[in-house]
Amino acid sequence: MSAFIRREDPAAGVARLVLARPEKKNAQHPPLLYELDRALCDAANDGAVKVIILAADGADFSAGHDLKDGFYVPDGKPVATMGGHLDAGGAEGHYAFECDAYLGLCRRWRDLPKPTIAATQGRAIAGALMLLWPMDIIVASEDATFSDPVTAFGVNGVEYFTHVWEVGHRKAREMLFTGEPITAAEAHRLGMVNHVVPLAELERFTLDLAIKIARRPSFALRLAKESVNRTLDAQGQSVALQSALALHNLGHAATLARCGELVSSDGIAAVRAESRGH
Ligand code: ZN
Repeated sequence: MSAFIRREDPAAGVARLVLARPEKKNAQHPPLLYELDRALCDAANDGAVKVIILAADGADFSAGHDLKDGFYVPDGKPVATMGGHLDAGGAEGHYAFECDAYLGLCRRWRDLPKPTIAATQGRAIAGALMLLWPMDIIVASEDATFSDPVTAFGVNGVEYFTHVWEVGHRKAREMLFTGEPITAAEAHRLGMVNHVVPLAELERFTLDLAIKIARRPSFALRLAKESVNRTLDAQGQSVALQSALALHNLGHAATLARCGELVSSDGIAAVRAESRGH
């Protein structure tokens, strides 16, 4: 039983996992992230499921990581790593946390051995991209936007640093330097999303796509997915991700040394002010 993730089975062979924390704009605190991981694992291991949809309740897909909730691994049990001084505090403990809860979970989700489709509406801010980008296919409503404003926090970008693969290096630079959102139409033009549809059709369109994919043999789908993922790895994506996470944590450590916080309150306030302006 999950408090923050709802599982639905809308058609034969299709599971839909829904972020169900709309009162907090589906902000991702550790319980939500680890419950999502559990739900994805269960769907991956359910013989009746061939395709998984990730969707969200409310007007916005997700406002990103819930920084107010703190940085911890629920029950002290890391899932994606062996842990390694999670309780060390400071930059050391935080790096161990991000290796597990952020990059580690995203990598597991990218490599989940079944096709995954994200359906996104409204805003997807910062950590929200870390739920969308590890999925295989992204369907967006016309009002969807995507932004990574976290240079305001003193770090390079979100912890799953696939920006260059998602939007190309020119747009990645602008997106990171300005923190400005990309519209659904622009994301579609850049190849970051597969389809843009009216909001009222988002759920039906995504389900029809999942049903179409679910007609194909599971093992072949798995092989096709793995082939794409291994191609990304051959292009250097895995190494680039680990390197970017190290630089990201250098940013956290520098912020901690400068103002006593891993993420500066000033940066959080600046991002809040910017997002109110859009
Ligand atoms: Zn971070």
